[in-house]
Amino acid sequence: MNYLIKSMKAREIIDSRGNPTLETEITLSSGLISKASVPSGASTGIFEAVELRDGGKRYLGKGVLKAVNNVTEIIQPKLINYDVREQEKIDKLLLELDGTENKSNLGGNTILSVSLACARAAAFQDNLHLFEYIDKNANLLPIPFFNIINGGKHAGNQIDFQEFMIAPIGAKSFKEALLMGIETYQILKNKLQKEYGKNAINVGDEGGFAPPMKTPEEVLDTISSAIQEAGYDNTIKLALDVASSTFYKDNSYLISGKKYTTNQLIDYYKELVGKYPIISIEDPLYEEDFDGFAALTKVLSIQILGDDLFVTNSKRLQKGIDLGAANALLWKVNQIGTVTEALDAANLAKKNGYQVMASHRSGETEDTWVADLAVGISCGQIKSGAPARGERTSKYNQLLRIEEFLGEKARFQKNFKIIK
Ligand code: PEP
Ligand code: MG
Repeated sequence: MNYLIKSMKAREIIDSRGNPTLETEITLSSGLISKASVPSGASTGIFEAVELRDGGKRYLGKGVLKAVNNVTEIIQPKLINYDVREQEKIDKLLLELDGTENKSNLGGNTILSVSLACARAAAFQDNLHLFEYIDKNANLLPIPFFNIINGGKHAGNQIDFQEFMIAPIGAKSFKEALLMGIETYQILKNKLQKEYGKNAINVGDEGGFAPPMKTPEEVLDTISSAIQEAGYDNTIKLALDVASSTFYKDNSYLISGKKYTTNQLIDYYKELVGKYPIISIEDPLYEEDFDGFAALTKVLSIQILGDDLFVTNSKRLQKGIDLGAANALLWKVNQIGTVTEALDAANLAKKNGYQVMASHRSGETEDTWVADLAVGISCGQIKSGAPARGERTSKYNQLLRIEEFLGEKARFQKNFKIIK
């Protein structure tokens, strides 16, 4: 039998923000070795699976040696001789070993690194790409949502909204979408430097520029003019990740120094959507405000994504579906912590007519599994930051490889579903 787990080890590696994270390595009875590493968020939802960190002085408390130890001392002895193709059985055992609702015992980071390394080992043992292992008929390449201006917790500027993205929805292939995104990104860079000086082209955590701008309108106007200059006004649309929980306090939202109630904020979004070609807004309201999300989803006929709202958790997503809160799931595998549970959440979303956007985290590694999984679940949308910086481009480059590998069979997501 080639598929049995022979041994497992983990190590501390470094993520894109210079913090430690976890990489797990599995050796199969065949001798095949598979690795997977896990990312880390900054604007994390309060209901996400817990990231186990060591505390203390080392790495300012962010070490993951406890997680490394959990892989070798607790998980390995139980998983030896398991068949890696039995993903559900493995993930169930990991949940049982942890024994908590939020994976605080072994750590969501610990569990996910093992879960993903198993999936990848099973794929590679069969000489498959990871995306083919998830679904052998998968052939849909996602629209990339490039985060080209960073604010909020991802940048040292005064922009309150976290992400300003461009989506080349009029492209004919992923390769073309990437080209359109990059041309716009470079034109924007020149424009920022000309209008705001050299400091404006410093970048934030996800490789988008972090200029000294103050209002969302100032950002959207500049991006719009870069799109126009690139010649893509009809083919590139705009998207936001407001990450509003990061500036929510005492029942109100503080944007550009001005306080908004929930209703005022909904009116503000209506105004922005009327003025700019925005097709998608993520986390427009506080992560516990299901009713607010439902009200907003009713009045705006664009994609409304729940990130911190759903945390890729089927129970929270079901609540959203029941209430009509949002119409799309931001899909972050490390928010929930196992491959099986993440796939379940994506299926639940699709079954109920919710769109799914696969997502990286702001703290990333060079690992590319999110690109493969995005194709594997045929979700048609991905965000992996700007088309710059290695930990972001590794995902986009993997999508180029997948598109090339699929050749004639490759399809690109057309007709973005929810459009004003
Ligand atoms: C996000 O909020 O969608 C995001 C990618 O950021 P983070 O990883 O910091 O949660
Ligand atoms: Mg988000």
